[in-house]
Amino acid sequence: MMLEFDQPEALRTWLAEHRAPGKRIGFVPTMGYLHEGHLSLVDRARASCDLVVMSIFVNPLQFGPGEDLERYPRDLPRDRGLAEERGVTALFVPGAATMYPPGAEVRVVPGEAASRWEGAVRPGHFTGVLTVVAKLFHQVEPDVAFFGQKDVQQAVLIRAMVRDLDWPVAIEVVPTVRNRDGLALSSRNVYLDPEAREQALGLSRALARAHQRFRDGVRAATDLKAAMVDALRVYPALAVEYIAIVDPDRMQPIDQVDATTIVALAARVGSTRLIDNIVLGKGL
Ligand code: AMP
Repeated sequence: MMLEFDQPEALRTWLAEHRAPGKRIGFVPTMGYLHEGHLSLVDRARASCDLVVMSIFVNPLQFGPGEDLERYPRDLPRDRGLAEERGVTALFVPGAATMYPPGAEVRVVPGEAASRWEGAVRPGHFTGVLTVVAKLFHQVEPDVAFFGQKDVQQAVLIRAMVRDLDWPVAIEVVPTVRNRDGLALSSRNVYLDPEAREQALGLSRALARAHQRFRDGVRAATDLKAAMVDALRVYPALAVEYIAIVDPDRMQPIDQVDATTIVALAARVGSTRLIDNIVLGKGL
């Protein structure tokens, strides 16, 4: 039976009883509405840890005004079933008032790498993310925490947080799980009607085009970007917010790419925002 906690103290007490030398605690933080992407993080955690804690918390702090906090999809009964079936040991589902009681005002502020891309389009987003992840890390005290490549800038900033704040948590980044047609799985895909769903394919198609050009020997970032813009022409309803061709450590733009380069993009289709990325040497 999977255990479930909504109070950090109760979770902490239970974890204290199960923490032992040589026993590894894996942690998978999520906002719920689970899909195979989330569950692949659980698989990874189970493969290397003795005990897997998953959190489900739609973190108000990382949503800006006018974003989709209220309509973000939620289905706890379904999530419970999926998490248990996949082998989560303990589910942690704190309420917003538990995480942010009145007067809670300290924040974890990221560095320079948060100023670009997602951070530029969503001011304050990464401060919200790092603050909640910091709290969750203290509540769970995992040995290893698992994050998806899908949110690459988030993964980069969390790595920076544990490094810069001397946190003894290993961070593992897991490849993006996709539908058969290439669309990266996302809880937000439920917002897409069939037409929008078709347009959404533009993101992975543009990334596939960049990967193809890289394999053809193209190394200039401007040429790769031009190839992506060209691939996106047949997706007129996609409003592209950025195409980023960056180094994997600091998310800084680079001129000459190599196999470790990250190519990331964000686009809106209607009122839905989608993001995707690849490591250039690996592809989709
Ligand atoms: P979220 O619930 O969207 O906050 O995501 C929770 C975790 O799952 C984050 O580390 C995400 O990067 C990861 N994740 C989301 N979508 C995918 C996917 N398609 N493949 C792999 N990991 C994912």
